[in-house]
Amino acid sequence: MKDTTANISQITLLKQKLHSARAALEEMNEDNNQKLASLLQFIGHLSLACKGQSLELDNKLAKLRHKLGGFDRVEEALPELVEVEQILKKQYNHVMVQLEDGRTSLSKVIRQLQRVDSAPEQLKKEINYFKQELAKPFHTFWDYIPKVERLVGFYDAILQEQLRQGDKLTILPKHRQLAHELAQMISEIEFRKDQRDQVLVVKDTLTDDIEVESLIDAYQTILTLLLENIALEKSASQEFLYALNDALSAVREVVSDSYNNNQRSYQLKKQLNREINSRVDNVGDAIIDIDDIHSLKSQITEHLASLRTALGRKEALEQREQALLRKSMETMRTELNELSREANTYKERLFEQQKLNLLDTLTQLPNRAALEERMEQEYRNHQRHKNPLWVAVADIDHFKSINDTFGHSTGDKTLQVISMALKNSLRETEFVARYGGEEFVMLIPDVSATDIDQLLNRVREKVKNIPFKFKNQRITVTVSIGAAQIMDNELINETFERADAALYKAKHESRDRVVIDV
Ligand code: GH3
Ligand code: MG
Ligand code: MG
Repeated sequence: MKDTTANISQITLLKQKLHSARAALEEMNEDNNQKLASLLQFIGHLSLACKGQSLELDNKLAKLRHKLGGFDRVEEALPELVEVEQILKKQYNHVMVQLEDGRTSLSKVIRQLQRVDSAPEQLKKEINYFKQELAKPFHTFWDYIPKVERLVGFYDAILQEQLRQGDKLTILPKHRQLAHELAQMISEIEFRKDQRDQVLVVKDTLTDDIEVESLIDAYQTILTLLLENIALEKSASQEFLYALNDALSAVREVVSDSYNNNQRSYQLKKQLNREINSRVDNVGDAIIDIDDIHSLKSQITEHLASLRTALGRKEALEQREQALLRKSMETMRTELNELSREANTYKERLFEQQKLNLLDTLTQLPNRAALEERMEQEYRNHQRHKNPLWVAVADIDHFKSINDTFGHSTGDKTLQVISMALKNSLRETEFVARYGGEEFVMLIPDVSATDIDQLLNRVREKVKNIPFKFKNQRITVTVSIGAAQIMDNELINETFERADAALYKAKHESRDRVVIDV
């Protein structure tokens, strides 16, 4: 019995222990379940964060997230997690390779950037530092993105710089041609004294290695100077017109004043004449009625006195008239003198301008416009008198090399000296003009076919004998000349063409010679 009671109490104790052990186990299970739920939730969130790396991984993670809710125990999720881990490892390696590839590409690009010479020095330094930074490996994409951003920044800076420098346009043959034409034009235009320095500066820029910007500037400067001159010329003409207008108004006023005065004087004179006539009539009447000699005498004396007064008034009137007329004439004469003085100045200016427009500024020889005028004149002469007329074209040999070796301004001086030599080797009746650049045209009348060769060779020799000395170096400058005589039924321009063709031959026959077209 005693044993039975002891057993019962032991069983009760065991039951109690079992009960509390079950309770503890349940509590543990509950706790585990909660931890599992949190872990699965965490895995779920993590998988979402990994989304977007690769399609395979995304699919796998989506499946895992779907299944996560169904797992009761961690172990159940293990096979899925192992699979995901393998894909993640693969993905990691792939990313690393990609980052390394990216770093190599950036290094290549940066080496290219280093070759851009036009980049500013500061930028070049920054690019160098950047290249050193690129030597360290990247660990994540976050290392990569700022590098790409900086690279884009470098490109942007270089592009901006290139765009800025890009304003410098490349010079083309047609630009050089334009520069040449402008230089030619400048030498044919006469500028005012105060403009000449500016024109010289422009002329100096118009060399073979001109830049497009300076060409545009040169055109702009010359246009401005020309416009200034036109404005000045216009205001001079305007001044003259104003003076003319003033003079005409003064004359009109004087004429109208004298007309009015005349009208008034005419009326006054008419009245005075009437008065005098009536006084004479009165005297007649009075004489008829008077018998007594005394009263006749006194009557006549009285009438004569009033007649004298009337005549005196008439004379005064006439004198006033004369004075007014004299004054009017004086005013008109002054105005007309003033006008004629203005007209003379204006005429002189026009004449000067006309003369200057026909002179080449550099050489002071007649220019192309003057040549054309003279050609027409000589042609008319030739048609009238049938006298011989020669056209000769002279061109300095290898002139470009003088410019190239000794500079443009030495070239200019050479042109001046040769121009004078050409002019001095011709007679008064003969004519030489600067046709353009280093070409001259001579018009030689009244010389026979037998003499022209000698004459032109003399001209050629004269140029050849000029003792030029550049940079202490004795230089001989020669010219080639082509000439042609005007033929019957030929226009002078055709003669010119033949002379030019003869010059071409002279150039090809080793230069420094005269070729006559026959
Ligand atoms: P060639 O014997 O064949 O005539 O050779 P060239 O060098 O004289 O002829 P080209 O036509 O090749 O060159 C003419 C040169 O004359 C080029 C141009 O720069 C120069 N020139 C033209 N006008 C002027 C000027 O007013 N002043 C100066 N200094 N040079 C001029
Ligand atoms: Mg030449
Ligand atoms: Mg030439």
